[in-house]
Amino acid sequence: MSSTTISAIRATPVTVPLEAAILHSNGAHWGRFVRTIVEVETADGYVGLGEMGGGGEDASRQFAALAEYLRGHDVFRLEAMRYAICNPTASLYNNRTQLHAAIEFACLDIMGKKLGVPVHALLGGKLRESVEFASYLFFRYDHPDSGLGEVRTPHQLVEHAQALKAGHGFRVHKLKGGVYPPAHELECYRALAAAFPQDRFRYDPNSALSLADAIDFGRGIEDLRNDYFEDPVWGMPQLSRLKEFINLPIATNTVVVNFEQLASNIDNRSVDVILLDTTFWGGIRPCIKAAGVCETMGMGVAVHSSGELGIQLATMLHLGAVLPNLSYAADAHYHHLTDDIIEGGKMTYRDGAIAVPDGPGLGITLDREKLARYHALYRELGGYPYDRDPGRPGWYPLIPNHDWADPAASLKPRLR
Ligand SMILES: [Mg+2]
Repeated sequence: MSSTTISAIRATPVTVPLEAAILHSNGAHWGRFVRTIVEVETADGYVGLGEMGGGGEDASRQFAALAEYLRGHDVFRLEAMRYAICNPTASLYNNRTQLHAAIEFACLDIMGKKLGVPVHALLGGKLRESVEFASYLFFRYDHPDSGLGEVRTPHQLVEHAQALKAGHGFRVHKLKGGVYPPAHELECYRALAAAFPQDRFRYDPNSALSLADAIDFGRGIEDLRNDYFEDPVWGMPQLSRLKEFINLPIATNTVVVNFEQLASNIDNRSVDVILLDTTFWGGIRPCIKAAGVCETMGMGVAVHSSGELGIQLATMLHLGAVLPNLSYAADAHYHHLTDDIIEGGKMTYRDGAIAVPDGPGLGITLDREKLARYHALYRELGGYPYDRDPGRPGWYPLIPNHDWADPAASLKPRLR
């Protein structure tokens, strides 16, 4: 047996507080992220790090079940690993794409540590020293612990964006919408554009809009400095139809998340910019492969955030570092966190960008004390229903949605 074979997989759920509960079209992150931290150990004693989300829930049992499949698998045999745990037909029964992603991160981390090189060097080499990020603005509830304020009105949103820009240097602002009526969100978005005349903008209502609402919203922002209109309506056929009415690039992280969908989008161009997510696509390497297809076929790429602590953020930085055709600022929820589970605390933004780690592997180290502390917090609080809004008990949206939150109501829901 080779020394770089997997001997153990450990998974630990953690809860790390956010500055406030942040809202999206399907519900909210209830003032915290639940993430599962994965440690893959090899026979020769290397430990690689991975991370996965899971909609507010612990994923550790799924990783424990994978240990039997992967014990004895050489971490350098990544293509074989894909078939060992998630080939496309077996996955019809047990889709493990996101689990595979976390294990792939850990294997790449081990490969880098073993060879003494950063992950980006294994993936073609870095083309940039840092990756620029967008401010990723959410409507949010006032947080009873942090005292950090509500974001509901145009004025509150602009104040929040000004604070984030002052603290981190963002030059691109993404508004996560699909919460309040489109006319209210349009007012908010235009207020942002007016407040930062030199900056660029993007709006993402998570496919909550009807075609009619999306046409109105799109026409209402055509004069602004938009990067793109992200998932305004659900599905490639409807995105295609929307393009006949508005003059904006369309982006998605929702309906092009695998290679079959990418092929469909080449046959019938519904989407102009593909947001690559290292978890949704099953790892950093599938994202690079998809970016290559996009480069050839003339589609733009950006880096998507499905929520991250420092391990996942490192995967986004290594991805962003090696993509020649990355022409947009990346997304991250990261600055909404109050802490991280890596040594040295949270990575810092400089002029809106985060430096690409240059240490061996992913270039980050797990802080054991923080892992224990936030695992204890997970055990205290448990999961949260990511697709429910604590301010609207019993509510869930249809697509398209017509039952919006009330922008006149300042709610202070219980978050536990
Ligand atoms: Mg999105």
